Amino acid sequence: MRGLREKGVLVTGGSRGIGRATVERFLEEGSRVFTCSRNAVELEGVVRELAHLGWVRGVPCDVAKPEEVERLVREADEALGGIDVLINNAGIAWEQDFLDMTLEEWDRLLEVNLRGAFVVAQAVARRMVARGRGGAIINMSSTNGLAGEVRYAHYNASKGGVLLLTRTMALELGKHGIRVNALCPGYIETPMSEAIDDADFVAAYVRDKIPLGRVGRPEEVAAAYAFLASDDASFIHGEGLVIDGGQLAQ
Ligand code: NDP
Repeated sequence: MRGLREKGVLVTGGSRGIGRATVERFLEEGSRVFTCSRNAVELEGVVRELAHLGWVRGVPCDVAKPEEVERLVREADEALGGIDVLINNAGIAWEQDFLDMTLEEWDRLLEVNLRGAFVVAQAVARRMVARGRGGAIINMSSTNGLAGEVRYAHYNASKGGVLLLTRTMALELGKHGIRVNALCPGYIETPMSEAIDDADFVAAYVRDKIPLGRVGRPEEVAAAYAFLASDDASFIHGEGLVIDGGQLAQ
């Protein structure tokens, strides 16, 4: 990809799954990468394992806690000499019937996936505007932000919210040279999806719903993050890029 070498990239939720693959991809592109997750031990392990690829640092941060986000963004901004790219990736998911969903469950999911995404994006965008050299922000939505799925009312609402947050940010931040886009992945094999679904569920899901006949890999989403952050995507703005093996084509 063009224009990623020496760029300062902040990746939230970089210790596992899609986020980890994304840290690796940006390092391979020659970017400098700052990342976070809640579990400090897991994060340290990832940073150690990927250090041979380039400049990478990680600090523990819960995106549901605005004071921790403020510290994360300040430290990332200083360490990177400015954040050029935000990969707003951290998220959680679990299944629950609509009729049984408690307010606590609803609030917990929304405070990470939607409020957390907003708090991180706002803190980073304020610094990008102040620095005056533009940037790229990519928020993590989902195919669940475009179409409903049973037992995921809270998750679907959060990801639909992220998509419209993305479009609104694009409208307001374009004049500052900050491009804002979202990713909408379908079924990707990660620790998150493995914790929720058994092998029989996944086999039926692939057979019935995914024209390419397989689930996606974290590296395939990382590649889309890198593309949208790169100069190759210099006129793509306010978009939600679907990466789903054709699922939403039917
Ligand atoms: P994983 O559970 O495999 O990884 C999630 C990452 O986010 C971990 O590093 C986790 O670390 C971190 N994280 C979770 N909560 C927080 C928090 N409150 N603050 C900071 N970091 C946090 O998930 P995936 O890689 O599958 O998912 C990544 C993103 O992609 C999520 O936003 C998800 O909704 C989205 N997505 C996933 C799809 C899939 O099929 N897997 C499809 C479409 C979208 P820790 O727990 O230590 O904090």
